Amino acid sequence: MPTALEQLRLRLADVHALHNAITVLDWDQQTYMPEGGSESRAEHTSCLSRMAHELFVDDKTKSLIDAASPETDIDQAELRVIKRRFDLATKFPASLVAEKSRLSSIAHNEWVAARASNNFKSFVPTLSRMFEIAREEAELLGYTDHIYDALLDQYEEGSTAADCRRMFDALKAEQAPLILAIKELPEVDDSWLYGEWDIPTQRKFTETIVKEIGFDFERGRQDEAPHPFCTTFGVGDVRLTTRYKPYLGSAIFGSLHEAGHGMYEQGSPASFDRTFLQGGVSLGLHESQSRTWENLVGRSREFWSIFLPKLQQAFPVLANKDLDTFYRGINKVEPSLIRVEADEMTYNMHVLIRFEIECDVLTGALEVKDMPEAWNAKYQQYLGITPPNDAQGCLQDVHWSMGSIGYFPTYSMGNVLSYQIWNAMEKEIGNVHELMAKGDFATIHGWLRENMYQHGCRYAPKELVLKLTGKPLDPTDYLTGITAKYRAIYGL
Ligand code: ZN
Repeated sequence: MPTALEQLRLRLADVHALHNAITVLDWDQQTYMPEGGSESRAEHTSCLSRMAHELFVDDKTKSLIDAASPETDIDQAELRVIKRRFDLATKFPASLVAEKSRLSSIAHNEWVAARASNNFKSFVPTLSRMFEIAREEAELLGYTDHIYDALLDQYEEGSTAADCRRMFDALKAEQAPLILAIKELPEVDDSWLYGEWDIPTQRKFTETIVKEIGFDFERGRQDEAPHPFCTTFGVGDVRLTTRYKPYLGSAIFGSLHEAGHGMYEQGSPASFDRTFLQGGVSLGLHESQSRTWENLVGRSREFWSIFLPKLQQAFPVLANKDLDTFYRGINKVEPSLIRVEADEMTYNMHVLIRFEIECDVLTGALEVKDMPEAWNAKYQQYLGITPPNDAQGCLQDVHWSMGSIGYFPTYSMGNVLSYQIWNAMEKEIGNVHELMAKGDFATIHGWLRENMYQHGCRYAPKELVLKLTGKPLDPTDYLTGITAKYRAIYGL
């Protein structure tokens, strides 16, 4: 007779299989599916989602969870994760889930129309309802200090608004003045990174660099998508996507970013496959890895000391760019209106603006109708620019229309953690920049795999950060690193 835990695993392997089938459908939809497939695809996905949800939240799952007696540390960790997910999946009444799902599809269409016609007012009633639903969800999830805590916890277990505020206050104090100072300096010319770049050549080059840093193409592949993402069908099959644009950096840094996510996913041990322990543990820690490979590695001078000659071979038009010019070009800082196009330095300001606005709307300090004024004032304050319209302002992101409220801060946590983990790594393996200058990425990847990737979801995010770096999330390493880098680039 299998034990309760074994029976639970078998049951959840089925839930997992259904989720993975949804993931495959979604990957296909975002990469290759013709437009005509969207209606029936939506049916298929919602059918499978319903089946997975019903199987998961069934009383049988609950009784197996209650009866399970973990024997090893891994069992214990697995059961903890299962309980948490079960708890999250059963917190909301079906009526609320249904209303949110209905409202999301209406909101999406309204958001598209409002953005196209630059008419925020038309979106106010629906967006207000979406924030009310978020408030209801937060009450159902429960919190002690701040309403935001409940929502954020869904994406970043254990993190709170107070953690975010501490982090953002530190980022704001150092980064905002530096950005404003850089804005006064002559602009770096990176116009030579724009052009018509042969797509097969870009594909080959990005696959080469992604492979060099350690992404395993035996257990993954890279395809093209309008909005790049990384997704996982299992430990043995991780999918990256990238996009080819007139800006050459789009494909290069997009590929490195997604490969960082992908390598974290590929690092789970095979024994975690088809269990709730597989994959990255939280959005913030996931983003720390995409940012590590995109920025700390991919935007370093050492990385390009190896790969610039190869890029110049692929695109001879770049032959007259020396390493210094190239390095300055790819690290150009320019306050801009659009988050997804922001550079490494200004990105956090975009995120912090969304965090502050979400908090204020949730607590009632700001009404949705007054969002554009608040948004524009903050862009002026932190980035020195004002959106000419709401389409390029508070209507730019899709997230709120989907009811994804409370997760923007995980992007900045990822930036901060990338440096914090990097510094912890350097204490053990020595100067990482020297390794990169020799083209040794395997030592870096090996350390991350050993100390972080192989743990999958075994440790809660805050526990993993502590275990990895010896301290909780702390922006000091990030601020020291990033200000030194950009002061040197801009001679400040
Ligand atoms: Zn990412």
